[in-house]
Amino acid sequence: SFIQQFAKHPSYMAPRGNELHARSWQTEAPLRMLLNNLDAEVAEDPSNLIVYGGTGQAARNVESVEKIIEILLQLDEYHSLLVQSGKPVGVVRTHPEAPRVLIANSNLVPAWANWEHFESLKERGLMMYGQMTAGSWIYIGSQGILQGTYETFMACAKKHFNGDLRHKLLVTGGLGGMGGAQPLAATMAGASFLGVDIDPKRIEKRLETRYIDRMTTSYEEAVKWVLEARESGKALSVGLVGDIGDVLERLLSDDIIPDVLTDQTSAHDPVNGYVPNGMQLEEALALRKSDPATYKERSLKSMARHVGFMLALMDRGAVTFDYGNNLREFARQGGEKDAFRFPGFTPAYIRPLFCEGKGPFRWVALSGKPEDIYATDEALIEAFPENKDLIIWLRQAKDKIAFQGLPSRICWLGMGEREKAGLIFNDLVRSGKVSAPIVIGRDHLDCGSVASPNRETESMLDGSDAVSDWPLLNLMSNTSGGATWVSFHHGGGVGMGYSQHAGMVVLADGTDRAERCIRRVLFNDPAMGIFRHSDAGYETAISNREAFNLSL
Ligand code: NAD
Repeated sequence: SFIQQFAKHPSYMAPRGNELHARSWQTEAPLRMLLNNLDAEVAEDPSNLIVYGGTGQAARNVESVEKIIEILLQLDEYHSLLVQSGKPVGVVRTHPEAPRVLIANSNLVPAWANWEHFESLKERGLMMYGQMTAGSWIYIGSQGILQGTYETFMACAKKHFNGDLRHKLLVTGGLGGMGGAQPLAATMAGASFLGVDIDPKRIEKRLETRYIDRMTTSYEEAVKWVLEARESGKALSVGLVGDIGDVLERLLSDDIIPDVLTDQTSAHDPVNGYVPNGMQLEEALALRKSDPATYKERSLKSMARHVGFMLALMDRGAVTFDYGNNLREFARQGGEKDAFRFPGFTPAYIRPLFCEGKGPFRWVALSGKPEDIYATDEALIEAFPENKDLIIWLRQAKDKIAFQGLPSRICWLGMGEREKAGLIFNDLVRSGKVSAPIVIGRDHLDCGSVASPNRETESMLDGSDAVSDWPLLNLMSNTSGGATWVSFHHGGGVGMGYSQHAGMVVLADGTDRAERCIRRVLFNDPAMGIFRHSDAGYETAISNREAFNLSL
């Protein structure tokens, strides 16, 4: 049976090729992408259905995965599946241009929206944490964040180092699903890189996928390598096994000041993510289960200590920023009063891109063939000859990125560009230049799809950081526009109580129906970013609103 072949727990793998198992590509696509999210090449821990980002899951439990598969294999285009925190709960009557799957993950009424309440529900089997792209089936492995990380490091380079990270040392913590993109992004930007992770397996995974160059358990060796690389201007990435707080403390006492300092440990979850200082990994895993309250207390204190060293290094000259894991908030709760003295990455580097409707546009070749992605790369290079950065990125990506699971690509595209790219992909499928349909999606971290006051909407010009009408409007626009599946989540990136966000994926199967859906969805989605930022008073967003004829 299908489950025996593609979804025998924990060995998940999307079917390849252009033969359908479901009744149409509209249901084959979410089916393949769910299985792809759980593929061992893609997911951090498929045996627990964990895809990335601490405990971000693709489905609630094994029975739910099997039931979702069973339904998607049968579903026609007059019905849509409802998924509630990773569990299929119903099928509703819809129409051929409606989304085939409607997903709501981890949502709680605001006054109950904290990790404690969530965990009590999770323990009773009533909820799962969807993170951003884990529960919405469009995670594509570390490449997904790679370009965003590269854009961020380059924006940092432009702001502080004349656009060049050669002869610069970048230090960070966390080399997991998202954090694992940092070493490759840093070396692509020319830097010498030191990344610290408490779990050696995570660094090994980055070595296997060629995201990091070297690994060591020796602080001395790591420091020697990265300082030599900084000196000679060589791009080199080193993964050091250890606690990030301890390593920063030693750097400080050895007077080794990073040029750039950030962090991507799973700080958003003080119990099931961050590992407290002074504990072996096994010890921490045991304490998580036996005494989560003590664990949390130690975790918050460790984050305060960790941020304390970041502040000290910042005061000694390191360009320091929070990289979207809510580390500052939990450090504050752990006793570091000055935690918010360094900025988040969005106000520091990313917001100008959001004002152009830009964000992490991505696509996946459902055929499983790398040549299909290379064909899309070439088509975009031809379609956007003026966009030099894009061309450099696509060429480097082809060269340096090992695909994980189904071949995929990401690049940040803005208003106008996304629709153009989507139509090109649909034509490539229609003309047979790629061998099977393509799905087009994005991270929930996008210009108009998220409310997250310590991250994407930090320090908005008009103070509207916590207004979550915007992601809801985004969800509604993409649902009525005809995305192939849509999602609304809570707590992604920064944890329970701190964010609400929407996701979408639209299918390019070469049909006229897909073309109509793409024209609507890939117009509406970036337009939401321009609406959101022009409403908040950003000048570039206001002029883009006029330029793209989006004024009321
Ligand atoms: P992950 O759980 O896959 O990896 C986190 C890593 O941190 C693990 O490898 C873990 O061993 C390590 N770690 C935990 N405590 C440590 C300590 N004290 N010292 C050293 N290493 C430690 O998570 P991920 O997918 O890599 O995401 C990392 C964080 O970034 C999460 O908080 C996530 O919510 C956030 N995030 C940021 C973005 C963004 O765009 N900036 C996007 C998605 C997620």
